[in-house]
Amino acid sequence: MKLILFGPPGAGKGTQAKILIEKLNIVQISTGDMLRDEVKSKTPLGKLASSIMDKGDLIPDEIIMSMIEKRITKSDCKNGFILDGFPRTLNQAVELDVILKSLNLKIDKVIEINVNEDLLINRIVKRASESKTTRDDDNSEILKNRIIVYNKDTLPVLDYYKSLNKLNTVDGTQDIDKVSKDILKVLNWL
Ligand code: AMP
Repeated sequence: MKLILFGPPGAGKGTQAKILIEKLNIVQISTGDMLRDEVKSKTPLGKLASSIMDKGDLIPDEIIMSMIEKRITKSDCKNGFILDGFPRTLNQAVELDVILKSLNLKIDKVIEINVNEDLLINRIVKRASESKTTRDDDNSEILKNRIIVYNKDTLPVLDYYKSLNKLNTVDGTQDIDKVSKDILKVLNWL
């Protein structure tokens, strides 16, 4: 099964992806985690990425697409994957389809975790205060920009998948278990 988990920062994509990979025996591909690994390892890409991530802006599409292409052709993706935090621009979505087509693969479903903006801000502020390894981009200034970027660059991706009849929406304001159940229902797993 090949899935996309879609939603604004703080919607719970990472949390849900971790639950789903256990149940479905597939892998999680988080471009945010991959970039944070590069930052931690102080690679040239990591250095460039951290200056962009620290502002809450998006990494250029070419960099992201080359990371994704390498990742989804690895053998652990054979049984399927969940894309978490990707695609984040319409261009990324269209290019993903080109790559998948060349590999004779396709996305089965896109799941939008829908959460309103006030709740998001509360959640991220909470995540920042609780986390020992606080993410540098979890503060209110940067968060505001991440939400602006989401609304401007990422929301058009939803319409793209809607037009392809792949979009399913779950209510992300519910507790974690209920959100997982709703996602599994969408996947006909429950
Ligand atoms: P995330 O962990 O998914 O919230 O991503 C953290 C940050 O990494 C984002 O604010 C962006 O700066 C960058 N990033 C992650 N995924 C992408 C992507 N698909 N396209 C562009 N930038 C990304």
